[in-house]
Amino acid sequence: MDRKRIAFFIPGRGCGRRCVYCDQFAITRDGGGGRPLTPEAVRNILSGCHDPVELCFFGGSFARAGRESFVEFLESIWSAPPGSSITFSSYPGDFNGQYGGETARILKNYPIGTIELGIPSLDPDVLRKCGRDDDPDDALGILAMLRDMDFNLGVQVMIGLPSQSRESSRGDLNRIASVMGGRVWDFRLYPCLVLKGTELEAMYGRGEYRPLELEDAVRTGGRLLLEAESLGFNVIRVGLLDSRSLRESVVSGPYHPAFGELALSEKTALSMSVEHPSGPWQIDARHISRMTGHGGRGIKRLSELTGLPASETAALLQVVRGGNQ
Ligand code: SF4
Repeated sequence: MDRKRIAFFIPGRGCGRRCVYCDQFAITRDGGGGRPLTPEAVRNILSGCHDPVELCFFGGSFARAGRESFVEFLESIWSAPPGSSITFSSYPGDFNGQYGGETARILKNYPIGTIELGIPSLDPDVLRKCGRDDDPDDALGILAMLRDMDFNLGVQVMIGLPSQSRESSRGDLNRIASVMGGRVWDFRLYPCLVLKGTELEAMYGRGEYRPLELEDAVRTGGRLLLEAESLGFNVIRVGLLDSRSLRESVVSGPYHPAFGELALSEKTALSMSVEHPSGPWQIDARHISRMTGHGGRGIKRLSELTGLPASETAALLQVVRGGNQ
C-alpha cells in the first residue's frame, strides 16, 4: 500500500562527530536555523493524520540519539492512525555490541517500516579518510543481525569518496549483497560533493582530495545501479534532493540538479547495450526521458556503446507500456 510519507530531518543528531563530507544542515534544507525536533512536535503532526502514514527520520543517526529520546520518538507513532510505520536512517555502529542489540530489540516493539543504514563504503582506507569509525566486518554482521530479526533494510552507498575506486565500490556492493539472504533491500546512491565548511573542503583546498567529474560520476553511478539491480536491490533514490541550501553549499564535485535522472539514463543505456547490442530496444513510456532528456543523453550514450549512429539508435527505440526499462 502506498502511504503518505512524513519526513522529519534530524540534522547531525546522534552523530557524535561529523564524517568529512557531511553537512546535513545544507543537505536537508534546514540551513542550521531550525529548532531541534521534539517528540511533541512529531505527535502533534501525526495526530492530525486521517490515514496510515510512513513516519521518517532522516539526516542523522536516529538510533544513537540517546535512549530516552530515541524511545520517545518511537512512541510518537502511536499518535498516528493504525497501520502507520517508522522508517529511519542510522549509523551501522548504532547496533553494535550489547547496547546495539538492546536497541534492535526495542525496535521490535514498534511498527518499523525500513531501517536504512549509511554504508558509504566498506573499504577501511576510505572509511578512515572519511572520518568514520565503522568496522566493515561489523557493518556486515549488523546487517545480518537485523536481517535475522526480520527488519526490512536499506543501504545508503556513496561514490567518489576519498581513495574510493570503482572497483572498491563494486566490491562493497557484492559484499553487502552476500548478506541479503534472498531479501530485497532498498538502495540509495549518493555522489560525494565538496560542501562548504566541511573537512572535505579543507582536504580539497590542500590538494588531498579530487572529486569526480560529473560525467565520471554519472557513468560510475549508472554501472553501480545496474549491478545493484542485478543483485536484487530495490533502487529508491539516486542523488541528493536539490535545494537552494544545497546549491549554495556546493564548492566542487559532480553536482547536478537531476543527477539521479542522468545516472539512471546511463544505467538504462548500459543495460540495453548489453541485452541487445544491435537493438531494437523497448522502453517503458514512464522512463522515456532517460533516453530523450538532457539533450538525448541516453540515446547518444547508447549510440556510443553500440557503435550505431544516433539517428539509427533513436529509430530502434520502441516505447511501450509496462516494459522492463
Ligand atoms: S553519520 Fe551520517 S549524518 Fe552523521 S555525520 Fe556521518 S554522514 Fe552525516
